Amino acid sequence: MLLRARFVYPVSAPLIEDGFVRMAAGKVVEVGEWSKCADRAGVEELGEVILLPGFVNAHCHLDYTDFAGEIPSPVSFAQWLKAMVALKAKVEDSAHCESWLRGARQAVSHGVTTLGNIETRRSCLTELWASTPLRMVSFLEIILLKAESDSVQAVKELNEWLTLNSPPRGKTGISPHAPYTTKLDLLQECAQFSGMTMAMHVAESSEEDQMFRHGKGPLWQMLKTAGRNMDDCAGSFPLEGVKAAGLLNDRMLLIHGNYLDSLDVDQVADSGASVVHCPRSHEYFGHRSFLLKDFREAGVNLCLGTDSLATMSDAHAQVDLFSEIQRFDLQNEDIADEDLIEMVTVNAARALGMHGEVGCLQPGAFADLFTLPYSGEANGVKKAIIGHKGPVEAVMIDGQWVDEYMEAA
Ligand SMILES: [Zn+2]
Repeated sequence: MLLRARFVYPVSAPLIEDGFVRMAAGKVVEVGEWSKCADRAGVEELGEVILLPGFVNAHCHLDYTDFAGEIPSPVSFAQWLKAMVALKAKVEDSAHCESWLRGARQAVSHGVTTLGNIETRRSCLTELWASTPLRMVSFLEIILLKAESDSVQAVKELNEWLTLNSPPRGKTGISPHAPYTTKLDLLQECAQFSGMTMAMHVAESSEEDQMFRHGKGPLWQMLKTAGRNMDDCAGSFPLEGVKAAGLLNDRMLLIHGNYLDSLDVDQVADSGASVVHCPRSHEYFGHRSFLLKDFREAGVNLCLGTDSLATMSDAHAQVDLFSEIQRFDLQNEDIADEDLIEMVTVNAARALGMHGEVGCLQPGAFADLFTLPYSGEANGVKKAIIGHKGPVEAVMIDGQWVDEYMEAA
């Protein structure tokens, strides 16, 4: 298969005016200038478009898509957690699947082809995987906080499930939910998944910070009441358990990291772990400013994610990575356009352990891409990508156009 476009932006290489992408067996085999394309047989002329690699959304909870606008911007993080627990308790499997699939369609319609998702219901997952063309990195969530809960048994069951199940495109990972909903022996057990990509919500709220560093506050109180042993709080820090269990490494994707201090940032940088920032969720909670400068200076791999629509006040919000890019761009005017695009492509691919496979157009990468209509000049291409609103023009995953799937969004 051969595609020709007015502009091809591989991200892993400079912008090409009048370019082509050749694919075979679902993979990219050649990218270059049309004038240097030797075999032109069967070319599909895409015309006045920008062709670029499918976006990689590094963090999402698809099953909460239908919670958009359900929880007004909360006074405290603990208050939001309580509202979430109540909302989730009412959701049947059928509603869970509908919400997940609605979110998946929204993601694809907005140019995402690989998605890092936190999965809460194993029993639904094989059916869900079969119902989307998305390349999934499905992180199986583990929450185990009661002092008497059996971590060994929980991890054994998860391991057995992971041995038997994997998505048709993509892979599985694990997600010990957060330091406050897990305990050290559980994190230590998770060290047996050392070859897998992991994702964990860490240092998300000031209340989590207060819980670990000072042993008090609304989150501390809520979890103590829920039966968590709080001996690891006070004089500690949110990353301590992750580090002590040996999970702080280049296969760890830290979600949020809003309240890490400068010492933590250096440790994250040394470990090779990545950080995913979710601008709309960040704004919803009114967290302190994201540590962009600190992370960048320390050399941390940074990417963007949508998080879930349960942290959006707007009932019409969608799983739309462009909205996150635009929000982030507004808040950080000094970030270069190409750096911003890298946060939803090559950086996010690296964070999910898929460097060179997704988020770029180069030989060996999956044939995952999308197009945006564009008739301007070369110097406006990156701004046009960043500023795009609404669905994209066309999406290809694994060498297949997915128009029909997008129309159902
Ligand atoms: Zn999340």
